[in-house]
Amino acid sequence: MTARIIDGKALSAAIKADVAQRVVQLKKQGITPGLAVVLVGEDPASHVYVRNKAAACEKAGLYSRVVRLAADVPEEQLLNTVRELNADSTIHGILVQLPLPSHMNAARVIETIAAEKDVDGFHISNAGLLMTGQPLFRPCTPYGIMKMLESENAVLRGAEAVVVGASNIVGKPMAMLLLAAGATVTLCNSKTRDLGAQTRRADVLVVATGKPEMITGEMIKPGAIVIDVGINRKADGKLTGDVQFESASQVAGAITPVPGGVGPMTIAMLLVNTLEAAERCAELAV
Ligand code: NDP
Repeated sequence: MTARIIDGKALSAAIKADVAQRVVQLKKQGITPGLAVVLVGEDPASHVYVRNKAAACEKAGLYSRVVRLAADVPEEQLLNTVRELNADSTIHGILVQLPLPSHMNAARVIETIAAEKDVDGFHISNAGLLMTGQPLFRPCTPYGIMKMLESENAVLRGAEAVVVGASNIVGKPMAMLLLAAGATVTLCNSKTRDLGAQTRRADVLVVATGKPEMITGEMIKPGAIVIDVGINRKADGKLTGDVQFESASQVAGAITPVPGGVGPMTIAMLLVNTLEAAERCAELAV
């Protein structure tokens, strides 16, 4: 059996085209959705991500502002930058690119972002709203994965969903979204005993560990939908996921590639979240 490839590039292009149309409508009401991305330091991967986010915004007609701060900037200066953006009516979404330099407290920085502009969905009150079934912003990566599952017409109600990796930005919110959709969710971490016994039960398997190709075909239930969040660079410079694509695609029913799977969806959902933040502003202004 060879799995269907879930094409994140094509699906994200369709979502971005829809965002662009809604932006045109919003501009007619005098509102241009604006996203501010704050980048601290020189991490090369972060620079690439921020450039891609800004380019995607501009292409869809959103206003984008990138605020760059030196790696040794005092935390208080970063907090003041965030506070200024909170008060700026041209900005509807604020994102502080992670990871932050080690002298900073990332949790404190995220809590300083106004919850109604927290388009990453990482603020504690947005995490709480998601957990209690009243989401304001869904974190972009899990949100994009839900859109992929929707595009596959995956039946989530009553399905066994296994999420490998329990970070605040991917694994935990992923588990909450799957639970809200009616799946029976198992959330695994690095201490999970006999991981294969868990993953082999999964109708839907989401892997976000940062451990290259750790999930092999023999750990997958035949016909399962496999979503690979991992982005790892191999010695030859090529990207690979947390799932061993070659063996997994022989067993799975559908699978996301790396690159071209979850990555493009994450950016598309950032645009959706920013647009929706601006739409909420427009509704308040009426
Ligand atoms: P973190 O390092 O924050 O979390 C990793 C999680 O995986 C932890 O919960 C950890 O367990 C768990 N884990 C690690 N090793 C194992 C193992 N052997 N078995 C089971 N669980 C394990 O990572 P992130 O969630 O931030 O990112 C994960 C991956 O996804 C990375 O490759 C990252 O680059 C990628 N990513 C991709 C995005 C995209 O847009 N495509 C967006 C965000 C991330 P424990 O809690 O016990 O430590």
